[in-house]
Amino acid sequence: MTMTGTGGELGAALAAAAPTVTVVTDPAVLNAHRADHASTCPSGTPAALVRPRTTDEVAAVLRFASEHRIPVVPQGARTGLSGGANAVDGAILLSTEKMTTIAGIDADNQTATVQPGVINADFSRVVAAHGLFYPPDPASWEMSTLGGNAATNAGGLCCLKYGVTADFVRGLEVVLADGRVLRTGRSTAKGVAGYDLTRLFAGSEGTLGVITELTLALRPAAETPRTAIAFFTGMAPACDVVTEVMRAAVRPSLLELIDPVSLAAVSRHRDLGFPPGTTTVLITQSDDPAHAEAVLNGFAAAAGREGGEVLIADGPEEGRMFLATRRSVGLALEREGANLSEDVCVPRTRLRELVAGVGEISARTGVTIACTGHAGDGNMHPTMVFDAGDPAKAAAAGQAFDQVMALGLALGGTITGEHGVGVLKRDWLARELGPVGLEVHGGIKATLDPLGILNPGKVLARC
Ligand SMILES: Cc1cc2nc3c(=O)[nH]c(=O)nc-3n(C[C@H](O)[C@H](O)[C@H](O)COP(=O)(O)OP(=O)(O)OC[C@H]3O[C@@H](n4cnc5c(N)ncnc54)[C@H](O)[C@@H]3O)c2cc1C
Repeated sequence: MTMTGTGGELGAALAAAAPTVTVVTDPAVLNAHRADHASTCPSGTPAALVRPRTTDEVAAVLRFASEHRIPVVPQGARTGLSGGANAVDGAILLSTEKMTTIAGIDADNQTATVQPGVINADFSRVVAAHGLFYPPDPASWEMSTLGGNAATNAGGLCCLKYGVTADFVRGLEVVLADGRVLRTGRSTAKGVAGYDLTRLFAGSEGTLGVITELTLALRPAAETPRTAIAFFTGMAPACDVVTEVMRAAVRPSLLELIDPVSLAAVSRHRDLGFPPGTTTVLITQSDDPAHAEAVLNGFAAAAGREGGEVLIADGPEEGRMFLATRRSVGLALEREGANLSEDVCVPRTRLRELVAGVGEISARTGVTIACTGHAGDGNMHPTMVFDAGDPAKAAAAGQAFDQVMALGLALGGTITGEHGVGVLKRDWLARELGPVGLEVHGGIKATLDPLGILNPGKVLARC
């Protein structure tokens, strides 16, 4: 049976099938939940929003959806930047916002078990109180959920030293499309039994199952980092400093680049007090007491050779202030106009070519493109800033977006280092994966979601 009725009818049937679940069909509430932060991605009209609290409730919703062939779109905090959590027509939006239990922290084994709706920063503060540290720190960490972070395999500023979210996910509980509950991975430090299904679900963007519990690895609390900042009058020298710093025997724990467009956007809202003429900034940190001095000195020497002016933070507070400038770039750019945000990642040695190429694309298309990012990883966020109300400007932004993606691939990179494919880049995935890669992806999707109800139209264009 296929259920196609109005949201009200579907809501009533859903409430009967999953009586303990909060089901909302109020159009105003649905409208407020239909999209993430990728403002240019299309979103459909959902039929209902559910807010389960338990795995059993999620399973009941998915059994109902499978029986009636209704699409289900999992949603965390909808901070995604690729339209992955956007509604599709007639969908049940499955929000994890009420799944916020931290079930346990095992301080001796340095693991934690959590529900997916826990906010990253809340969790990080709780584990810190146990003398532990959860490194994955997307710039959205005060808003985004641990489930959303796992489903996008989110990165962040600490990735350079510690790795991405998947590196800290030991195991998952996942509700499959038909309502069966799958456990992947382990809680032990090592384990190679069977295929690595945990890695498969990390980054699957809600297309293979709904993550209902995560077993996360923790580390001992990190030392307070030491921070340095370098001011430049152009991007090229800053890129060369990145290459040189990353070649050194001891590496920083963070190395971020802020470009002229982003810096100007942030400066419009607060006086940064940077040296006159500064257009580009590099920020580095080391949280390794044994090597911090060497890292900061190496950074200062490299920046000096490239004509940069260097300031070493005189304490943690000043370090946090430098980093606050970087963390505020995303929201500052959103205030400048519509954003079409890229996430290309290239081999570090090609960073200078990427940045120069983005500059050429901006000049050619007449589109303003910011190019801030995690320079130490070669993962930059070229962001087209434009007036969405002007069709010609929107079209030019779309062309610039495609050209940047082509450039990233041509430089041996990937179309997404951390934000995921979602709707935004699904047409580009085939180019990166190739026909065999795409076929294998399609086979996995068909095995786990044979009816194609899980987040349809995301990641894989034809599913
Ligand atoms: C200001 C700002 C800064 C950002 N900085 C970064 C950054 O530094 N690094 C980075 O990687 N990203 C960054 N992002 C993007 C975004 O925050 C991340 O992608 C984040 O991981 C999304 O989490 P969320 O809870 O908001 O998930 P959502 O946006 O709600 O969902 C993201 C995807 O995961 C799926 N999903 C969510 N929960 C589940 C679940 N329980 N089970 C299965 N699928 C699920 C959704 O269907 C969707 O496909 C930033 C965003 C903003 C707005």
